[in-house]
Amino acid sequence: MAAEQGPRARILIVDDHEDNVEVIRARLEASGYQIESAADGQEALDRVRSAPPDLILLDVMMPRIDGMEVARQIKADETLPFIPIIMQTALDTVQHKVEGLGAGADDYVTKPINFAELEARVKSMLRIKLLQDELSAANDRLARVNEELRRVAVTDGLTGLHNRRNVETLLHEMFEHSVRLHEPLACAMFDLDHFKSVNDTYGHQAGDAVLQQLAEILKVSAREIDKVGRYGGEEFIVLLPGTVLDAAVTFAERTRQQVESHTFTFEGGSLRRTISCGVAAFPHPRIGHREALVKAADDALYVAKELGRNRVVRFDSPEFNQHSDVVDDQYANQLP
Ligand code: GH3
Ligand code: MG
Ligand code: MG
Repeated sequence: MAAEQGPRARILIVDDHEDNVEVIRARLEASGYQIESAADGQEALDRVRSAPPDLILLDVMMPRIDGMEVARQIKADETLPFIPIIMQTALDTVQHKVEGLGAGADDYVTKPINFAELEARVKSMLRIKLLQDELSAANDRLARVNEELRRVAVTDGLTGLHNRRNVETLLHEMFEHSVRLHEPLACAMFDLDHFKSVNDTYGHQAGDAVLQQLAEILKVSAREIDKVGRYGGEEFIVLLPGTVLDAAVTFAERTRQQVESHTFTFEGGSLRRTISCGVAAFPHPRIGHREALVKAADDALYVAKELGRNRVVRFDSPEFNQHSDVVDDQYANQLP
């Protein structure tokens, strides 16, 4: 919240002597400031926390919690905005000033108060408060923009899924985790069948709508802990932590059936499409590192396409091995 410029600023006077409060109040109100007061340190802290003023004029010597402690607590409270504190020191000693500034006071005036000086210091502190507020508002904006940039950098614009770069990062972390804890990690690679003809027949926008709806089906079909990403144009990847090959195949088959029975809609029409899927899981004697896991799923996908599409092929199954001559074998003897 920005400080009120000039006379409309709210000033909290903290002093256990009613007379002192009233004389300063009269003077500052005459200059147009809004004045509030607190008769001791605890009341001051309560008021500051419930409605932070733009400036505090703080007496040092008060019963119970003194001014030094009030200043220390306010400056230590990170939930509060910057509130300038002007300390009123009764004794014009260097030691008091040093202690006050050390406790967090931003400036001080000595009693008896010279009002012209007090007003000059109040004005100068409110100027600093305004700059501080602008600075922290700019910092907040920057933090929000950074957060948005971070989100955009890891997200696929069309589908809202993890983008390929982020999938690589996630895969790295998940594979390491899997090796460390001896937990399985499965990978399913999905690709739309004859997708090019969607674009050719219905146009690119219809194609985009199909990709978005497929992304949605995958997200709903996967568990919360699974990572669903767009790996290529019309190729999607799902990383399933703690999942063995059988369970991953069950997931892939269920998803394949959902797509098969789904009617994709787009502006001006609707259509049906199928997907092919390759599934692999770690640990496996032929999968020694994370790229090999993705390649195994991708090769199984390739075999699914070869075998006529709209099917799930499991890596290293008899079906896969019978047709694996269509892909080159780079799995063996690779360490994590
Ligand atoms: P297959 O069954 O062998 O996978 O055949 P396919 O036609 O699906 O595969 P192919 O690789 O020949 O074509 C993929 C098409 O996907 C070509 C490309 O124009 C389209 N595509 C890739 N990214 C996008 C996208 O973001 N939006 C749209 N509308 N189309 C895309
Ligand atoms: Mg395709
Ligand atoms: Mg493709």
